[in-house]
Amino acid sequence: MTGEPLFDRIALIGLGLIGSSLARVIKRDRLARILVGCAQSQRTRETATRLAIVDEVTADPAGAAAGADLVIICTPMSAYEGIAKAIAPVLKPGAIVSDVGSVKRAAIAAIAPHLPAGVHLVPGHPLAGTEHSGPEAGFAALFEGRWTVLTPPAGTDPAAVEKVVALWRRAGSRVETMDADHHDHVLAITSHVPHLIAYTIVGTAVDLEEHTRAEVIKFAASGFRDFTRIAASDPVMWRDIFLTNRDAVLEMMGRLYEDLAVLQRAIRMGDGETLEKMFTRTREIRRGVVEAGQHVPPRAPGGNGETA
Ligand code: NAP
Repeated sequence: MTGEPLFDRIALIGLGLIGSSLARVIKRDRLARILVGCAQSQRTRETATRLAIVDEVTADPAGAAAGADLVIICTPMSAYEGIAKAIAPVLKPGAIVSDVGSVKRAAIAAIAPHLPAGVHLVPGHPLAGTEHSGPEAGFAALFEGRWTVLTPPAGTDPAAVEKVVALWRRAGSRVETMDADHHDHVLAITSHVPHLIAYTIVGTAVDLEEHTRAEVIKFAASGFRDFTRIAASDPVMWRDIFLTNRDAVLEMMGRLYEDLAVLQRAIRMGDGETLEKMFTRTREIRRGVVEAGQHVPPRAPGGNGETA
């Protein structure tokens, strides 16, 4: 799809899986007159140039953000505060600053205090991803049919929010706006705790293999195989997620422990009724996910459709 540019100059700070996928959408649909990319390593900058996914590329976030109508931070969240401080002095009045980070309360806390008056903050989170990282892992169809959640702080200019909504719609996303805390709670149970479980199960199995020579990896059946895919997700990104969404994740883990204890007791007591009741209920949830069209992985070259 092509059309009039939505923005004059867009700056993408970070050109990994998410940033480079957005870059591909923006170039494909000519959503900006000029698209500037920023990455810290020369290798990523050279790759972005070779792939022609940006018009210009720089190592300097401020150089990319100067004069931009829209700046989207697409780096690991631990880099946010430094980037916000660096770009703040060059942001033009009326510019929109957005991001794609997986934890929204922490994203706002890292960026908002540094923005000058007259700059609009419209944080975002595309619920789309794969276990791969870097500019070559990106692809334009990543966001198609996926939700993108925007969490503008109360009082944000609705026109600025609308412009970011329009960008994500052009990427093929369905867009919903909600409060940052609500987002973080929902994602804690739908994404963050499932990843924690995958990291734990795979770690435990590897320890078991080392200590008892059990052939865990050799005989990885589908359940374990699926966990290994999720547990292959980027370690830095997931470290940041658990450090920044601590309260919501701990709360959901507490609930999980309680439910696990119920299952543990049912197994010990031979209480098949409780087990079957639980598994029947969860089967219904799967039906709901399928009906909502959220069961199909994005058309990633080798990706698993797991989202952060
Ligand atoms: P990624 O593939 O590892 O890419 C990160 C990019 O950020 C790289 O281009 C890196 O540059 C750049 N970068 C890091 N620090 C920087 C700095 N200080 N200044 C400029 N550039 C910097 O990561 P990703 O998977 O795209 O994730 C990016 C963000 O998207 C994260 O905040 C994550 O929470 C969010 N997110 C991820 C997913 C997912 O499934 N992957 C889904 C939704 C949201 P170099 O390559 O030069 O190091």
